[in-house]
Amino acid sequence: PATSMEELVSLCKRRGFIFQGSEIYGGLQGFYDYGPLGVELKNNIKAAWWRTNVYERDDMEGLDASIIMHRQVLRHSGHEATFSDPMVDNKKNNKRYRLDHLVKDQKADVIARVAAAMGADAENFPALIAALNADPAKASEALRAGGVRDAFSGEVGEWTEPKPFNMMFKTTIGPVADDESYGYLRPETAQGIFTNFKNVVDSTSRRLPFGIAQIGKAFRNEITPRNFIFRVRELEQMEIEFFCTPGTDEDWHAHWLEKRLSWWEAQGVPRSKIEILDVPKEDLAHYSKRTYDLMYDYPTLGHEEIEGIANRSDYDLGSHTKNQSELGLVARVEENSDSIAKLTIPHPETNKPVVPFVIEPSAGVDRAMLAVLSEAFTKETLENGNERIVLKLRPHLAPIKVAVIPLARNKPELVDLARTIKGELQGLGLGRVLLEDSGNIGKAYRRHDEVGTPYCVTVDFDTVGKGEDPSLTDTVTVRDRDTLAQERVKISELSSWIQAKLR
Ligand code: ATP
Repeated sequence: PATSMEELVSLCKRRGFIFQGSEIYGGLQGFYDYGPLGVELKNNIKAAWWRTNVYERDDMEGLDASIIMHRQVLRHSGHEATFSDPMVDNKKNNKRYRLDHLVKDQKADVIARVAAAMGADAENFPALIAALNADPAKASEALRAGGVRDAFSGEVGEWTEPKPFNMMFKTTIGPVADDESYGYLRPETAQGIFTNFKNVVDSTSRRLPFGIAQIGKAFRNEITPRNFIFRVRELEQMEIEFFCTPGTDEDWHAHWLEKRLSWWEAQGVPRSKIEILDVPKEDLAHYSKRTYDLMYDYPTLGHEEIEGIANRSDYDLGSHTKNQSELGLVARVEENSDSIAKLTIPHPETNKPVVPFVIEPSAGVDRAMLAVLSEAFTKETLENGNERIVLKLRPHLAPIKVAVIPLARNKPELVDLARTIKGELQGLGLGRVLLEDSGNIGKAYRRHDEVGTPYCVTVDFDTVGKGEDPSLTDTVTVRDRDTLAQERVKISELSSWIQAKLR
C-alpha cells in the first residue's frame, strides 16, 4: 500500500489518472478532473458496485435522477435548515475555516487551552466542537485564549464567532432571476430516490423489502476542500436506500454492514484497514437511529470516513409525504403541506399502508478511488536491485486490461499483427485493450506496471517467423504484471488464455 498521499498524487498526475480542475487558469479548489486512466478506473469501480448491488440481487432497482432539484425537496429533506457546517473567519487575513478542521489541525497544547477555556474535555473532540458551537461568543474568546493559529499564515489568528454555513450550491433556473426561480444542486443523491419512491413502486410492483440504487454527482460547497480527492466540492456517490418493514430495520442494517465490507474486500480494500465506527448517540445526524461509519486508513490522513451506513428510520419518506399525521410516524418530521404524494406501501403482513424504514449505505466514488489506488500501490525492489512501482489492482478494476506491444514500431508486419491481436482481444468485451506502439519495450513495461495493466502481450520477430527459433512462430510473449513471469502463448489460444485469467 501507499505510505503517503504525496506518492499517490504524483502517480495520478504523471500517468493521467487525476488532474486539478481548471488547471490552465490556475485551478479551482475542490474540483478535479479524471484523466484517460482515471475515467476507466472510476467507471470500473462504479460498474463493480452496480453489479454487486443491483444485478446480483433480486431485491434492488436502479435509478438515475436529475442533479438540480426543486427547492421544496431540499427544504423538506431538512437540508435548507441543517445542511451546514460551523465556520469561523480569521479577521487578520479574511480566511475562512470549518471550525472542526481548524481546531483538529492545532497542536495538542493549543487544543488543551481551547478546551480549558470552554470547560470541555480536550480528549473528547466531538464534545469540544459541540461546546464551541453552543456558545459562539465564548467560542471566539476560547480560540483567542488558546492561541489558535491560522493554517494558511501560521500566525495566531483573530477569530470571529462560529456561524453556520450552508453547503448547498444554489442556482438560477430559467431566464428570470427572481426570488422564486432557483433550485439546488443536490448535496447527496439520496433525495432523488425518496422523491421517486412512488414512481418506482408503481412501475415495478415492488413489495417490501426492496432497495433502490443510484450512482451520481453531488455537490457540497465545502469550506475547506482538501486532501486531494478526499474532500471535494463536486463529488460522486454510490447510494442505496433500502426500504424495509419497521421492526426489521436492525437486521437489515447488520446485513448491509456485512455486505458492504465484503464488497470493499473484493475491490482490494481489506477489512483489516477499515474501522467500523458505531457513531455515538450524541453525534448522530437528526434523522439517524443508528449509523456505522466505515473508516478507512488513508495514507497520511489516517482513519477517515469512506462510507456511512445509516438507519434513517421513517424520517425521509415521512418528511416528503402528505397526510403525515395519519401515518403513525416514528421520526420527528417537519410539517409538510407541499407534497402531493402519499409515500406508503402495503405492510407485508397486514396490508395496511406503512411508511417503511430506510437503511442507507452511502459511499463516495472519489474516496473509493483513493482507497483502491492506495491499496494497490506497491513499491518493489527487483532482483537486479532496481525499484519498480506497480499498481496491483484487481483485474476487474484495471483501467487497461491488456497492452499489445509490437517490439519495433517501424516494422509494419509487427505493428499490423499487433493491431489485429488488439482488435481480437478488444472484441472479448473485457474493457480497454491498448495498442502500445511507443517502440521502447522497457518503458512500456514500466508504464503498464504503474497503471496496473495485468498483462502485456508482445509481438516480436519470432512471432512472425523471422527470429532464431521457428517453433515460436505464431506465438506471443505474455508478461504477468505481478509475478513478472513471461510465457509464450499461441496466438490462436490467446483469447481464451486471457479470458480465463481475467474472469
Ligand atoms: P464528512 O464527515 O467526511 O464530511 P459526511 O459524513 O458529510 O462526510 P455523508 O454525508 O455521510 O458524508 O456522505 C456519504 C459519503 O459521501 C461519505 O462517506 C463520503 O464517501 C462521500 N463524501 C461526502 N462528502 C464528500 C466530499 N466533500 N468529497 C468526497 N466525498 C465525499
